[in-house]
Amino acid sequence: MSFGVTLLGTGTPAPDPNRAGASYLFRVGDFRFMIDCGPGALLRLGQAGANAAEIDHLFITHFHLDHWADLGPFLVRRWIGGNRTPLNLLGPAGLQNLVDNILVLHRQDIDYRRKIRTEPVEPPKIYVTEIEEGFVFEHQGLTVAPFDVTHYPIEQPFGYRVEAAGHKIVLSGDTCPNENLIQNAQNADVLIHECVEYGVWTATDIRSDHMQYAHTPPEELGRIAAKAQARLCVTTHMLSASVPANLHQQIRRHFAGPIAIGQDLLTL
Ligand SMILES: [Zn+2]
Ligand SMILES: [Zn+2]
Repeated sequence: MSFGVTLLGTGTPAPDPNRAGASYLFRVGDFRFMIDCGPGALLRLGQAGANAAEIDHLFITHFHLDHWADLGPFLVRRWIGGNRTPLNLLGPAGLQNLVDNILVLHRQDIDYRRKIRTEPVEPPKIYVTEIEEGFVFEHQGLTVAPFDVTHYPIEQPFGYRVEAAGHKIVLSGDTCPNENLIQNAQNADVLIHECVEYGVWTATDIRSDHMQYAHTPPEELGRIAAKAQARLCVTTHMLSASVPANLHQQIRRHFAGPIAIGQDLLTL
């Protein structure tokens, strides 16, 4: 059974033509699902040769907008594309509130679109499941399990452990260096981990004590990948100003294994 992932977006909230907001398309045989749906995800999904109508399951890591901003457009596009089954959306506590607000935001547009159908059409529906560490989604040998990470000041940020066909892909979500992630990522075939280089961060009004509790710089990522004994370390969530060769060099200080600096549409 084939098992793989396409990085749909490897950027941050800052608009970057080369890096869309966070989003990942997983394929297990014929089954497809996504984790996160950041700005630009819908466009990248098309570029990856997929479309929203074939996705019935979407997981969210946390509620920073760079991880969910395309959720409304995704939902409407999926519905226009002919998928009238409810979307199964899973994520931390607070997800129902986010979805309620998104549906209000899109109600007018959805009503316009319902008016022009030849047959009566129900508005799009979402089944929300608020999950926590310990929950495991299972589907034909695939498991998707959230685990707690640390991303100040978010209350319940998740990484996800995805296992199928005897392989393990771990996605960090947004996090500072985190022991629980290292445990979950032990011997991962692929560790897709955020990588925010403090030195090129240009925001001046952010509290200086925030970064170390929110994000992971490349040198620390090298330590994490080494402790987890990851078979491949893939970076994501990178600032526009970060130079891939520099990131690679800093990760290499502590990690001897294969490193891939993530790019949008990279497929593993
Ligand atoms: Zn975040
Ligand atoms: Zn983020």
